[in-house]
Amino acid sequence: MKAIPQHLLEELDVRILLGNTYHLYLRPGYEAIRRMGGLHRFMSWERAILTDSGGFQVYSLSELRKVTEEGVSFRSHIDGSSHFFSPEHSMDVQIALGSDIAMAFDECTEYPADYARARASLEMTLRWAKRSQEHFEKHKQERPWDRAQGSEKRAQEMRDQTPNLFGIVQGGMFPDLRRESAERLVEMDFPGYAIGGLSVGEPREMTREMIATTLPLLPKDKPRYVMGVGYPDEIAEYARMGVDMMDCVLPTRAARHGLLFTSEGRLNIRNRQYAEDQGPPDPNCGCMVCRRYSRAYLRHLMVAQESLSAVLNTLHNLAFYVETMRKVREELLAVSS
Ligand SMILES: [Zn+2]
Repeated sequence: MKAIPQHLLEELDVRILLGNTYHLYLRPGYEAIRRMGGLHRFMSWERAILTDSGGFQVYSLSELRKVTEEGVSFRSHIDGSSHFFSPEHSMDVQIALGSDIAMAFDECTEYPADYARARASLEMTLRWAKRSQEHFEKHKQERPWDRAQGSEKRAQEMRDQTPNLFGIVQGGMFPDLRRESAERLVEMDFPGYAIGGLSVGEPREMTREMIATTLPLLPKDKPRYVMGVGYPDEIAEYARMGVDMMDCVLPTRAARHGLLFTSEGRLNIRNRQYAEDQGPPDPNCGCMVCRRYSRAYLRHLMVAQESLSAVLNTLHNLAFYVETMRKVREELLAVSS
């Protein structure tokens, strides 16, 4: 999590972090992290960690990538070195990181993609899901450390919580392909399911339609995860539709650009109108930033390019997202009880 230390994430009641497999694989390297006892110990984070498969960032960041049935070869965006990711290798890396929720290696179908392309891509993703699952099941216990030192009871609990692998639904923007992808994935019996290939440039109405088409086919009693969304109102909407998990760079990336999400809508803290505004960033937010600092001060930090700017803006946006989800959970519990 850029700009925010782990002890503050705990204070915000963050329960799970997403680790980017592609970035960690290139730097510091997954073997190094394994030697240091996995990502939990390396970064001092006892709570849950989800890792992506690395595939999405290979597609979006690396150069000269070549996709074959076997996997994806690519060049590092950092130093141009050559690498190869296959479903098996992605599993090895995620196991070495000590992920609690690993993701199957998939091909994120680009948008727009025609029907034939979306079908071919989905078929390969299903074959890769099978290979991911077989390799993961065979090797998932190969974590040569026990992350909970100190308490024997806690250590046993950790050993009992085997790592999990989620499958990913693809199928482009075609409802029938989404349905087929979901049905065939459910037959493979994963402990959780993700809907991938969304929020890749399609209109929001289409994102919603694909989620609405796919969700009823995924088991209700297992986590259902929509990857790569979204704005605060989107995540509330999707959660009400039955989505359990989402991930997005938006709250942190937007914060670094001065965009704050508030109960009154979006606020660009760079704007001159806040130069002497003594009010809190969000009058309805009780976060550690809003309780203490003014819009004028946050604007000053941003304009002066102080690194504290990224810290405070990100803290507020994360608090706003955590609070958004807390309210949705409360609302859903009230409806179901
Ligand atoms: Zn706040």
